[in-house]
Amino acid sequence: MAPKVEEPALVRATEVVIGGPIAVRDLAERMGVSGAELIKSLIRLGIVASLNQVLDPESARIAVSEMGLVVHAVQPEAVEGEATPEEKRPPVPEEDRPEDLKARSPVVTVMGHVDHGKTSLLDAIRKTNVTAGEAGGITQHIGASTVEWNGKRIVFLDTPGHEAFTAMRARGAQVTDIAVLVVAADDGVMPQTLEAINHARAAKVPILVALNKIDKDNALPDRVKKQLSEIGLASEDWGGNTVVVPVSAKVGTGIDDLLDMILLMAEMGELKANPDRRARGIVIETRLDKGLGPVASVLVQSGTLRVGDPILAGTAFGRVRAMADDKGQRLEEAGPATPVEVTGLDELPAAGDVFRVLADEKMAREIASQRDIKRRVQELGGGQAATSLEDLFRRAIEGEKKQLNLVLKADVQGSLEALRQSFEKLEEPEVGIEIIHTGVGGVRETDVMLAAASDAIIIAFNVTPDAGARQAAEQRRVDVRTYRIIYDAINDVKAALKGLRAPIYKEVVLGHATIRQLFKIPKVGTIAGCYVTDGKIARKNKLRVVRDGVIVHDGPIASLRHVKDDVRDVATGFECGIGLENFQDIKEGDILEAFAMEEVAR
Ligand code: GDP
Repeated sequence: MAPKVEEPALVRATEVVIGGPIAVRDLAERMGVSGAELIKSLIRLGIVASLNQVLDPESARIAVSEMGLVVHAVQPEAVEGEATPEEKRPPVPEEDRPEDLKARSPVVTVMGHVDHGKTSLLDAIRKTNVTAGEAGGITQHIGASTVEWNGKRIVFLDTPGHEAFTAMRARGAQVTDIAVLVVAADDGVMPQTLEAINHARAAKVPILVALNKIDKDNALPDRVKKQLSEIGLASEDWGGNTVVVPVSAKVGTGIDDLLDMILLMAEMGELKANPDRRARGIVIETRLDKGLGPVASVLVQSGTLRVGDPILAGTAFGRVRAMADDKGQRLEEAGPATPVEVTGLDELPAAGDVFRVLADEKMAREIASQRDIKRRVQELGGGQAATSLEDLFRRAIEGEKKQLNLVLKADVQGSLEALRQSFEKLEEPEVGIEIIHTGVGGVRETDVMLAAASDAIIIAFNVTPDAGARQAAEQRRVDVRTYRIIYDAINDVKAALKGLRAPIYKEVVLGHATIRQLFKIPKVGTIAGCYVTDGKIARKNKLRVVRDGVIVHDGPIASLRHVKDDVRDVATGFECGIGLENFQDIKEGDILEAFAMEEVAR
């Protein structure tokens, strides 16, 4: 066992001095909070950083004041003519007191399989609400719509589907209170229905089922209810407690019931927020308007946003010049659970960015003048706090992390089940395992986003990530582990859970080549005429043959040639001929992935 460094008990500081750039770990120490606590706070500010990352002083100071501590900014060089650079800010309480919380409207996302009627349902809901003579009248697209029902408000996010939902969550933003799962009564539970359910469950968002298209002759609502009960969403008439509302988005039946049920669920959820604080929330959409400049649709989640407020949204900064709601009405202020379009930012933030009103103008000016912060925050903003097996191992030793979340992808259902059962058996008293999503097929970007949002690692069995997933995994630092032998997968996870000292090997992908042509050479076999698309392929690497995301073979290289010569490696952008040891069954269009195993230092 590695010698354990005794951590001194944390004593929370009340004042902190921040001079220059500071690493997250050091800042946490200075503040007397755990690294995890600080990282969480940073994520709430839209800054995604790991323990070792260095924060610029401005971000550090915002984080500190957000956590309720007094900041002393000792600037290295005092600006001439300015008053003392020392500044104090009253602490802002991190948590709201219960008595400050007031009921707020629910925010709803519509999810479900493609063509089951998500968009139609949203349209039908919006139509219900167009009362004659409504002020403003024309609905504006601002990324979310507000519907009045029985004197209460419901906010619907305009972008249906779990992809957008999880992409936001991956940035640290939980926006949705209730997920409406649309299932077509003529089609039943489909792959994306399951995916949506897993995404909603991973986010711990309650699910309400809208059983759509009941107007159709071939609608079989009972069959769908049976399917739903098999996946843990049994309706009341099937002995469960999931609310299942039959609707027809086309004809308009059941929409009233659906809205009633949403309000009921919202009431049970006791959704609350403190309207009397500086506003914060999430950017849901952005656009560049010729006349108005950058326009951001934001959802105020807590506090009240007012015209004139200095705000920071992701890396964009500005003062709220004007606000409008989804009916095009100008607003002076917007309370919790209100979507509004804001003008006055200096550039476009990204959807999913956290926005917040800054404490005072001085801070606003300070940040505005430090344009440099943007680039640096952007650099920091790329990565989610990494989760990997090594991290888990370390955290298990440090007693920090108590649960391993897994996303499992495999080539066939049978392997998924085998993996699931084996992993479930590995649970330890101290470390639980939760499989938050399983799926047949290659690893896709949504899987990576889900893993990033849920602090999970991805176990890919006989499948590989596609290009989008690979890029996302790199950006969000999600650990995607590819295995071809169940035993290896289980052993790695077991080792991480138990903190065994067995060396952990991590696979490093070194490059990819696409097979463009096959050459059959007598006595030698089939040679793949390839083009190296990224990285490089070296003679000593192992190669994996990937067809439609599924690994069909892996093994050593028998020959590597460029033009007519045997070569040691071939770089991106070059063509080469590759022969594989003991494998001839290659096809045009296959992707060859070069990889090596490296021992991971602990
Ligand atoms: P989405 O992909 O889930 O957003 O699905 P859409 O809202 O685009 O709907 C897919 C198709 O189903 C469209 O052709 C709709 O007209 C049709 N559709 C949606 N809801 C209903 C419904 O309640 N009844 C019938 N008969 N058709 C519907």
